[in-house]
Amino acid sequence: MSKEIHDVIIVGAGPIGSHTAYLLAKEGLDVGIFEKNSGIGKDVNCTGIVSTECLKIFGIPDEVILRPVNSIKAFSPSGNCLRYHSASPLAYIINRSLFDQDINRRAVTEGATTYLNTKVENISISDGSFKIKVKTEGKDREFRSKTGVIATGFELNSFIKKPKRFLYGIQTDVKMEGVNDIEVYFGKQIAPESFGWVVPTNGKSVKIGLITKKNPAEFLKKFLQNPLIAQRLSTYDRKIRCSPIPLGRIPKSYAERLVIVGEAAGQVKTTTGGGIYFGLLCSEIAVNIILKAFKNGNYSEKMFKEYERIWRSKVEHEIKAGRMLRNLFSRLSDNQIDLLIDFAKRDGILPIIKKSHFDWHKDIIISLSRLLISKKLFKKQYS
Ligand SMILES: Cc1cc2nc3c(=O)[nH]c(=O)nc-3n(C[C@H](O)[C@H](O)[C@H](O)COP(=O)(O)OP(=O)(O)OC[C@H]3O[C@@H](n4cnc5c(N)ncnc54)[C@H](O)[C@@H]3O)c2cc1C
Repeated sequence: MSKEIHDVIIVGAGPIGSHTAYLLAKEGLDVGIFEKNSGIGKDVNCTGIVSTECLKIFGIPDEVILRPVNSIKAFSPSGNCLRYHSASPLAYIINRSLFDQDINRRAVTEGATTYLNTKVENISISDGSFKIKVKTEGKDREFRSKTGVIATGFELNSFIKKPKRFLYGIQTDVKMEGVNDIEVYFGKQIAPESFGWVVPTNGKSVKIGLITKKNPAEFLKKFLQNPLIAQRLSTYDRKIRCSPIPLGRIPKSYAERLVIVGEAAGQVKTTTGGGIYFGLLCSEIAVNIILKAFKNGNYSEKMFKEYERIWRSKVEHEIKAGRMLRNLFSRLSDNQIDLLIDFAKRDGILPIIKKSHFDWHKDIIISLSRLLISKKLFKKQYS
């Protein structure tokens, strides 16, 4: 078994692992990125919606962008539709595979090494090193580094302690022409306690999916048969992808010589399940701490604890607010959701939505909760 060395080992070449690698390699560190798949961006399960803010901050190139999105339609359980349109783009749809490849290419250009087809089977921290055991082309190999970064996404069977709660995100690509808005569908029959979506990609195809606590395949099958969907559907590619989405942070995202970033750490918007933006933001925090550790030659647990303190102060209020909204939403009956959409069409919700931010939802959640309570919308239904 050979032993090979890097300054930093990154486990997982998703967008967050590769972005972390890019920033560290740019600063002159020797970075090794280990990816179990045979290609970058392979079999990704993601709708690819990112905000304008994310696009600008992280310099997402034009080649990766499929289209801007200016309008969202929300459908109530009875099919009542609320459309919200903005003159400027609300968000962008990106090609997630190309996006992942672009970030990884940037990392490699800065000198990082990507090991494909290389599954990390075990990690350990001992003798002043972060160590991994990998399996690649049938062979066992061992690598070590001064510091490790786990960016494996949310996998139910990996070596990280998981958040207690998670949901399933299931999706398929479908031929459907003439869809220009993001469509969001609510209702117990569609996605109890969550939502389903139709998201246009290239003018002829859309991504159709939903988030649910259980029975994802069953709900998707029913959703594809929903009259609002089925009558517009030509074919779907039968390739259905389903993955868990964390609904909260992991108990601890650091240790001596180690940080955990991205979806693996639970850095995800609990309202929508979107994880690209928060993950990228938090990876930059991780990079600053890793660089500090290298500068001071200090890889102690105390040094890396700072990473968790900073990232939590930046996004944890959003994670908690999103969970609060989910709890509230899960208690609504289909009738109440109908009433809510109806109310939004007539009354004060649209101005609040207009002022809201695509990535930061805490303020809108508080404003909406206050408005709904003041209008006694929920109370009326419960009594
Ligand atoms: C249906 C669905 C739709 C979504 N839509 C959106 C959206 O529109 N916008 C948005 O922002 N987010 C969305 N998300 C969430 C988004 O996809 C994730 O938050 C994002 O991929 C997280 O990036 P990551 O780099 O942390 O993890 P990942 O993208 O999961 O990357 C982890 C990488 O690590 C590799 N890996 C795992 N274990 C090992 C191992 N042991 N050894 C080596 N390699 C390993 C994996 O193969 C993978 O390549 C969606 C999620 C789902 C399920």
